[in-house]
Parts: sequence; C-alpha cells; structure tokens
Amino acid sequence: SIGRVVIIGAGFGGATAAKYLRKWSNGSIDVTLIERNKQFISCPTSNEVLGGNRAYESLVHGYDKLGKNWGVKLVNASATAVDAEKRRVRTDTAGEFEYDRLIVAPGFDFNFASIEGYDEKARERILHAWKAGAQTLALRQQLVDLPDGGVYALTIPKAPYRCPPGPYERASQIAWYFKQNKPKSKVLVLDANDKIISKEKLFLGVWEKDYAGIIEYTPKWNATGVDAASNTVISELGDRLHADVLNLLPAQRAGDIARAIGIVNVNDRWADIDWITLESTALKNVHVVGDALSAAPLMPKSGHMANQHGKAVAAAIVEIFSGREPQPTLLANTCYSLVDDKRAIHVDSVHRYDPEKKQPLVVAGSGGVSSAPSVEEGLYTRAWAETIWKDVLA
Ligand code: FAD
Repeated sequence: SIGRVVIIGAGFGGATAAKYLRKWSNGSIDVTLIERNKQFISCPTSNEVLGGNRAYESLVHGYDKLGKNWGVKLVNASATAVDAEKRRVRTDTAGEFEYDRLIVAPGFDFNFASIEGYDEKARERILHAWKAGAQTLALRQQLVDLPDGGVYALTIPKAPYRCPPGPYERASQIAWYFKQNKPKSKVLVLDANDKIISKEKLFLGVWEKDYAGIIEYTPKWNATGVDAASNTVISELGDRLHADVLNLLPAQRAGDIARAIGIVNVNDRWADIDWITLESTALKNVHVVGDALSAAPLMPKSGHMANQHGKAVAAAIVEIFSGREPQPTLLANTCYSLVDDKRAIHVDSVHRYDPEKKQPLVVAGSGGVSSAPSVEEGLYTRAWAETIWKDVLA
C-alpha cells in the first residue's frame, strides 16, 4: 500500500472519494469508509416521494458493491473524535483507525436553536425531511392524512443550505399532489431569502400556470420560532402562521463531527479548504468534501457537486501519495427539479480554479437554465439519478 485513507461519511462525497481512490490507485491505497447508516438513502428525487411520484424503496441503496467491486473497507459505526497528532479516528462501536490522510464528508447538521421551540419533542411531529429516510415517509403520510382544504407550510432558511432549488421543487411536488387529490388545500412557502434563489423565473412560471391558488410564496419570512402545541410558526418580525402540516428547515452548518474535530472555521458553520487538494486550512492531512465545506462563489451544496469534490480529492491524494504535484480539477454541476409527475427544469454550471483568487470560479458563458419545463428533461432527471447512484456506489 502507498498510503492509508480513512473517510468519515459515505454519502455523495465520501463514497465517491472511496471508490475513486481505489480505482485511480489501482487498489494501492488502503481505504476505510466509516458510515453510521446501514444503507444509502438518496435525498435527490426524495421530493418525488412526497408528491406520490416515486416509490420510497427506489431511494435506498446498499454499500456492499464498494467492498465487492473496489475493495473499500466498510465500517458501520459513528466517528466520534479525531486525534490529529496521532492521525487516528475514534468510533463509537468499531474501535480506532489510523490514517495518513483523513477525508471528512459528514454532510450538514441543523442548528436547531435557530428556531426557538423546535426541541426534540416538537421534532417528533413537526418534520424537516431534509435528510432522506424515516422522515420522508412520515411527511408523506402527514400529507396523505391531510383533509382536502388543509394547509401545508414549508419554511426555508437563509442560504447557504443543502440543495438551493430543493425547497421549491418540494413545494411543486406537493402542489401537484394536492391538485390531483385535494384541490382545496394550500402550499405556503415561507422563505427567509429575498427571493427564490434558484431557477426563479421557471418556478414562478410553473406556479402561476399550474398551481395558481395552491402555492402561496412569501419572501423575507424568516422562521425563528415555533409553538408546537398549536402548530404555529413564528417569524423574526413576530408574524404567526398556523398550518395543519408544518415542515421546518432550520439553519444548517457542517456536520457535527466536523465541528467536533475543529475544522469549522467559516462563520462557525463551514469548513474552509485549499481548493487544489481540498485539505482543511485548519488541520493538516485532513480533507473535506460535500456540503460541509465552505463553498466557492455560486457553487451549490448538491449531490452532484459533492460527487465532483469526491473525485477531486481522490485525484489529489493519489498524486500526493505518488510524490507528484496535485493539479486543480474542473468541477461541474447540474441540479434538476421535477415540477410535476413528468416535467423537469435544470440549472448547471462549470467551475474552474482561478490561480489568483485561489478558488474555482464559474467559467464565463458556461451553464445556464432550461428555457421551459419539459417531459424530456423529466426523463433526464430520472436518468441522472440512476447514473449518479451507480457512479457513487457501484
Ligand atoms: P450526505 O450525502 O448527507 O452524506 C453524509 C454521510 O455522512 C451520511 O450518510 C451520514 O450518515 C454520514 N455521517 C455523518 N456524520 C457521521 C459520523 N460522525 N460518523 C459516521 N458517518 C457520519 N443534490 C443534487 O445534486 N441533485 C438533486 O436533485 C438534489 N435534490 C435534493 C433534494 C432534497 C429534498 C434534498 C434534501 C437534497 C437534495 N440534493 C440534491 C442535495 C444532496 O442531497 C446533498 O448535497 C448531498 O447529499 C451532499 O453530499 P455529502 O456527501 O456532503 O452529504
């Protein structure tokens, strides 16, 4: 072996890094992947489950192929601490693991304190469903149980958060479901941002044309409190709004383990990195990928981008272990959103390393958005999901 890598978190970023470290080193790098969940459950396309347009089971994937096909050592445990001096990761149930390089890929965790009253008790019934899994199914059930004429409300935190178009896609999916099944019901979108932050014209166009009278969008509505007993959400300015189904998205930050390790050094929320090696600027030999890192300008927190980070860090570490100079990688992103049972829209971008600014910047003239929702893009969306799941996990 030319080196040992330990990875914390087998989501879009960490699992990709594990596979490509093995692949691009021809198996000469020893890779241990620590993940607390037994299965991979995809957030991308989980909004379709809420709209009744996809089976939940299709989101769920095994990790076994990373072991069988690529020789990744899978550890089902939670990483609890890192000794950076001894280069060791501690876990709750599987002992300790030594590394030459560590990759931290835990995704995000909520800052629940950003919504007063959103305590453990309140969270049993008032859901976020922003990490796909049991909450996806539970929220779907709440929507199914809602009588015709009932009100669903979704709060959106100030950017940056996981998946910029995700909340607007969710509103569209749920509005589609209401339109077919309970047309007197409403979707209230309470957005802390000044406006829709992704694909604004496209979403507004669909909402006006297809979901008029169902979706009501309010910008600059920052949810800072909740009264769980009365299912009422409270804004920063003291406005109170009751809904039958409340769906709260508190403020987000790098996954808790990143904070515990001491690599969260941007606004106490995200991990700053060197953009050639994706190494933390706070801790040597520790790299960061995915939602947890402090994104470059106009770079979304997406599964697609986390997958790109995973490949970039794998390439850099292969070069380092081989005694060569790591080179910056071109990064690309596409985020699709399904606006009903068939049609989708997309936004995409290409990010190239700028040696002066020392970070990737959007390449002038690259990327863009759809001209209109289309059935064709709906097919692309579903193909994108199948392709990326395979790229990350098989
Ligand atoms: P994750 O994929 O969340 O992986 C982190 C992993 O780390 C998890 O498996 C977690 O269990 C594990 N972990 C955390 N801490 C520990 C620990 N201490 N020990 C062990 N394991 C740990 N992106 C797109 O590109 N396209 C889309 O269409 C899209 N749609 C979305 C829709 C919704 C509703 C949502 C919520 C998100 C969507 N996203 C989409 C965004 C995408 O899900 C995230 O950006 C992506 O998952 C980030 O990858 P990650 O590897 O950083 O984190």
